Amino acid sequence: MSRVAYVDGQYLPHRSAAVHIEDRGYQFADGVYEVIAVVGGRLLDDERHLARLARSLAELRITAPMSNAALRVVIAEVVRRNGVRDGIVYVQITRGADPRAVDGGVAVIMIPDIRWQRCDIKSVALLPNVLGKQQAKEAGAFEAWQVDREGKVSEGTSTNAWIVTPNATVVTRQADSAILDGVTRLAVLDIIRREGYNFVERPFSVVEAKSAREAFLTSTVVGLLPVVKIDGVAIGNGQPGLLSRKLRECYLTHEAAAK
Ligand code: PMP
Repeated sequence: MSRVAYVDGQYLPHRSAAVHIEDRGYQFADGVYEVIAVVGGRLLDDERHLARLARSLAELRITAPMSNAALRVVIAEVVRRNGVRDGIVYVQITRGADPRAVDGGVAVIMIPDIRWQRCDIKSVALLPNVLGKQQAKEAGAFEAWQVDREGKVSEGTSTNAWIVTPNATVVTRQADSAILDGVTRLAVLDIIRREGYNFVERPFSVVEAKSAREAFLTSTVVGLLPVVKIDGVAIGNGQPGLLSRKLRECYLTHEAAAK
């Protein structure tokens, strides 16, 4: 089956699906995206993905090009035309092409320099993430956990970061502007609450991570993966931890329930 993509109102063969060179997504990474899992032909946690997409768009002051209902139709059609049973759908919305014109004198305002401290927005500006992932690859690791100026772990380059403390408390950073509030993160938090495990949303340090009983990471693409080594240091006994394995099982059940 040949692949099909939807671009600007048209379903096109994947190989000829393209955006204009003036598109601000291409020129300035002025756009947002979502990656949604398809399980048994159905979308997983689509409500949360669409809610986050709407939030990202609102933060960038980009008007949604279509309603959520219409977007659902397009996504379902792309899934159908590509014959996807289990896989992912990638959705990207950019500001499009926007002519630049200035004449006369200009006004200036003062703003805080935030470049780039809005990791809560699922922007397509991913160069630091790409560099981090490349560094992980070169070090023979799967992921890189990014550490903030206070020495606290924010998140992975494409995943959220979690530890289990020696007293069996699950810890992940609260959803502040330093992290993307992962849909998988939210699903795992639901599971943790439902199963009654101790947990706290707070930043954790590098030292804490390396001396954790267990560690794991989450994302739509990988689900929940145990972390067994950080900077060469074995976590726990160097094998996937008991709680991580239980949570992974619960997450797989959550995925299967979407079918
Ligand atoms: N953090 C970052 C920086 C990411 O790119 C992703 C993947 N989109 C995640 C976390 C995990 O988010 P989700 O569970 O929604 O895939």
